[in-house]
Amino acid sequence: MISVSILGSTGSIGKSVFKIIDYEKKNIKIRLLSANKNFKLICYQIKKYKPNYFIINNHKIYLKVKKKFRKSGTKVLNNFDNIKFKKRINISISAIPGIAGLLPTIKSIKFANKLLIANKESIICGWEIIKRDAVRYKTKIIPVDSEHYSIMKLLENHRNSEIKKIYLTASGGPFLNFKPKKLKNIKPKDAMKHPKWKMGKKISVDSSTLMNKILELIEAQKLFNIPNDKIDILIHPNSLVHAIIELKNGLKKFIYHETSMIIPLANAMFDGNLNIDNYIKSNLKKNKKIIENLIFEKVDKKIFPIIKLKNIANKYPSSAIIINASNEILVDHFLRKKIPFLSISKIIMGILRDRNYKKYAIRKPKNIEQINKIDNWARQITINKIK
Ligand code: NDP
Repeated sequence: MISVSILGSTGSIGKSVFKIIDYEKKNIKIRLLSANKNFKLICYQIKKYKPNYFIINNHKIYLKVKKKFRKSGTKVLNNFDNIKFKKRINISISAIPGIAGLLPTIKSIKFANKLLIANKESIICGWEIIKRDAVRYKTKIIPVDSEHYSIMKLLENHRNSEIKKIYLTASGGPFLNFKPKKLKNIKPKDAMKHPKWKMGKKISVDSSTLMNKILELIEAQKLFNIPNDKIDILIHPNSLVHAIIELKNGLKKFIYHETSMIIPLANAMFDGNLNIDNYIKSNLKKNKKIIENLIFEKVDKKIFPIIKLKNIANKYPSSAIIINASNEILVDHFLRKKIPFLSISKIIMGILRDRNYKKYAIRKPKNIEQINKIDNWARQITINKIK
């Protein structure tokens, strides 16, 4: 029996994990689920999977669900403070977007043997704490962003000193072939139309600006201890090659797989011991071609001005916390139609020129409270610049 917890169980990653679990259901017991406000789906998941705990962030929804399930075997809570398991959980999946996912990620290190992290923002903002606690509690960390899962696999038999370059691939999102002057009219619904992936709202906007790739570059740098100048970004509209490593000996290796998060997630859950054909039959479209004609291109700075962050997003120890916080505020405002699309990159660049930026960016936070202080400063200054 494998025990599982899913943080962000009602989201896009959460749903992919359930597709795997539904296929493997005989061998899996759900111990803990967590979500924010999707009342209908939370109730469905409690009835179907009978988790020991369901943690709900939104207070109104928490009270409503708690009342509805007061006589059930599931304890409904609104924080992670009073969770106790007789045995450690085998696998926990961290998929709450934004820095909101950081505290739950850190809490779950204590009770999980293996932590699959999709929530890139927690790696970007809190990697030092995650790494320290993972050693302390002997928790294995596996990144499941498809690019980082691929890099991890590609680096398995290589030392960092053998690496010349790592290439992160980016689909280019919905605006890849747009004329730059059309970018000013983009609406939230346009940014949601990702040509290859079906994902949550925040990551869809990040993919459309290419901020997702900047966040992934920092994520890769932190996870694999590779300097920024050894990591590059390539546009790859096929979304089939997820990462490439170039070795000093002249060989280039890459990982190619169908565009589905089920592949990195299921491989990470079962340590590669699975027959993906079983999942493909029920969940993935079978691709008749053995391999597609692959396209790789340089990033066009006129369409993706955010790419200018590539060499500066990790300049100081806390630069990434500031950029991430500012981006979260801006994406939220864009989704609520309060700012135009192009303001996202413009305002972030402005924050990096702010006279107090360096004062916060040079800090080396040792705990989540110190991370929150830097994050709060960046949120406030971003809001001031929007006004
Ligand atoms: P979604 O928006 O689809 O889902 C978010 C999930 O987190 C939902 O369950 C939501 O609950 C819950 N949630 C949102 N805010 C909070 C909060 N403050 N506290 C607790 N729970 C909360 O996101 P995705 O699944 O697309 O992305 C999740 C993470 O995985 C992100 O960090 C993203 O970058 C990363 N990722 C996603 C990929 C994808 O294919 N989707 C690919 C690679 C990485 P509710 O539904 O109740 O509101």
